[in-house]
Amino acid sequence: MNIFTKRIAERGERGRIKELIETVNNNKEHLLNLDSGTLFDELLVILRPGRTTTLLLDDLADVKDLNQKYDGVKKGAHIYIQLKELSPDSNKYPELKILWKKDYETAIEIVKSLESSSHYYVIMKNLLEKVELTAFCKGGDRRARWKLDPIHPEYAEEKGCYGVAAKLMYFILDILEGDLRSKNITQFNTELEKCKEICKSEFNEREIAFISQLLPKSVCPMCLERLELVDFFRNGRNDPKAIVFGHYEYRGARTGDVHIGKNAFWIHRTCNSIQGIYTIEEIINLLNTMVGKHKQLTIDWEKRG
Ligand SMILES: [Zn+2]
Repeated sequence: MNIFTKRIAERGERGRIKELIETVNNNKEHLLNLDSGTLFDELLVILRPGRTTTLLLDDLADVKDLNQKYDGVKKGAHIYIQLKELSPDSNKYPELKILWKKDYETAIEIVKSLESSSHYYVIMKNLLEKVELTAFCKGGDRRARWKLDPIHPEYAEEKGCYGVAAKLMYFILDILEGDLRSKNITQFNTELEKCKEICKSEFNEREIAFISQLLPKSVCPMCLERLELVDFFRNGRNDPKAIVFGHYEYRGARTGDVHIGKNAFWIHRTCNSIQGIYTIEEIINLLNTMVGKHKQLTIDWEKRG
């Protein structure tokens, strides 16, 4: 179902935008006026890490220093540096992408503020792909989970994968609804409700009851902070607010199939690593005990040496 219509970039538009985002922060006002899917595409390049390691630096002078010292090349808003020593575990020269934190933050701010159908089209196209890969495929490649060897840790039954896709998509639609509401955009409400109903057709009765009493729905289940569309595009390596696929029950548990709808949600990367091998309730209890103990005994780490 296509709610937002695609818009083809005008001739030369991409080139003009590329020039402006060489320094996102300096051209912020210009960029804020260019509300299009093409702009969003280009901003994604800044936010997401590629195969190279992305470093966000607070100080622009440090970015410039590294650029000079390591003979970097400017590519859009990033400085690309290829190291001269081969990586020990491969035959490739390690590559670094250096980015000024202020440019990263401005890109996030612009993405958050956009309001056109064409940019929502790009967002939803990207998120649908993310849901598809997460729900149906083994991490790292596009092999269907139900075609893997049943003893593979990422094996799942086909039916379970559809349940996961429907649940993850439902949460995204809810976040999208909140975003549109905050911008007073109401013309897509009916279509959104229809899409949510399609997702619900994959839920069992208990899931439907659980979802309908869950308010607000679009929160990280660990820190209970509200999730936003832009959070799905944050840099996974540098940004603690980046979002990953989470499980209520630890996926390594191997006690039956955990890749099913009722077990699936979106969670901050940081919160996911805190959750570890526990369920949300188990880890909250553990943390609660720890915090209690820290109130009774304080270690002065300043004196550690
Ligand atoms: Zn969180």
